[in-house]
Amino acid sequence: MSTLVTNIGSLVTNDPAQGDATPLGLVLDAAVVIDGDRIAWVGAAADAPAADEAFDAGGRAVIPGFVDSHSHLVFGGDRTAEFNARMSGRAYSAGGIRTTVAATRAASDAALEANLTRYLDEALRQGTTTFETKSGYGLTTHDEARALRIAAQHTEEVTYLGAHIVSPDYADDPAGYVDLVTGEMLDACAPHARWIDVFCEKGAFDGDQARAILTAGRAKGLIPRVHANQLSFGPGVQLAVELDAASADHCTHLTDADVDALANGGTVATLLPGAEFSTRAVWPDARRLLDAGATVALSTDCNPGSSFTSSMPFCIALAVRDMGMTPDEAIWSATAGGAAALRRSDIGRIAPGARADIALLDAPSHVHLAYRPGVPLVSDVWRQGVRCR
Ligand SMILES: [Zn+2]
Repeated sequence: MSTLVTNIGSLVTNDPAQGDATPLGLVLDAAVVIDGDRIAWVGAAADAPAADEAFDAGGRAVIPGFVDSHSHLVFGGDRTAEFNARMSGRAYSAGGIRTTVAATRAASDAALEANLTRYLDEALRQGTTTFETKSGYGLTTHDEARALRIAAQHTEEVTYLGAHIVSPDYADDPAGYVDLVTGEMLDACAPHARWIDVFCEKGAFDGDQARAILTAGRAKGLIPRVHANQLSFGPGVQLAVELDAASADHCTHLTDADVDALANGGTVATLLPGAEFSTRAVWPDARRLLDAGATVALSTDCNPGSSFTSSMPFCIALAVRDMGMTPDEAIWSATAGGAAALRRSDIGRIAPGARADIALLDAPSHVHLAYRPGVPLVSDVWRQGVRCR
């Protein structure tokens, strides 16, 4: 079954061989043919081949489905009161991540999965066709492995984050917890995950611990990614590049050497502006990274504590308004950039052979994603060739 999506006013392909030969490969008056779960043809609407059925885009804009390469969606509980206190300038003594760990351990498999699918549906409505998600709220061998098993029912991009924080059960023995994360817990989790991640930060895991955790994961076939340099300067970014991690995530506090390492290495800098928004923190400097030549991805970091948004359009608007990105750069980073952060070439672009993941906007241009913040512009979504919205 093939579908011709035609009368596309403005098409972002992320294929520089198309259209205006910019990184976005923008084609005006365009058409796309979907065949099965793949893109079969891209070009000018006037040249489009016939297909089994046709869909009239009505002159509106089409972009690749968003690739959200960083989220934490297997969790239980609610942290509304913590957010409300933070935004109201009140002290709040609850346990942060520990609050979610307790609620996640207490939740049934069915409750965790129902919560996960709720946020996935929400993200899909906003144009996200690929997402990565992590464990990290179980922090026992049983609870980490079960989070990954549940996540793997819904995405191939599953990340083992036993090293989110030191488990409260090991508060007096962080070295013992690293032994668990690199030993029994890793053995139980590796079969269900593609990636291994660590929160390399003061109060979480230092550079030596992070290196031991990522190296152990790599020996089990997992590919590293790192929560790096979010709250303070530190060794995370340099370690990520040294270990050829797919992505260093957050990158809010960077030295010139960190920027150089990202620009010259194979590690994507993934920026998560929902976190800075939701904690009133200083923004990461996307302009500095882009001008240095780094590859930048944008992602939601959707989690119940520090960034409870599933909206890639919201992150695009923040990146343009507050992080020095142009609208074109932000759309690229939310699609092709996310694909690069997941080391995928079959998503994040609209080109023959790519997965048929596309979003139709109720707008004449992709620029409206930044120009009209907070407006639900995604009107139709095809994921793997299936129109699901
Ligand atoms: Zn995160």
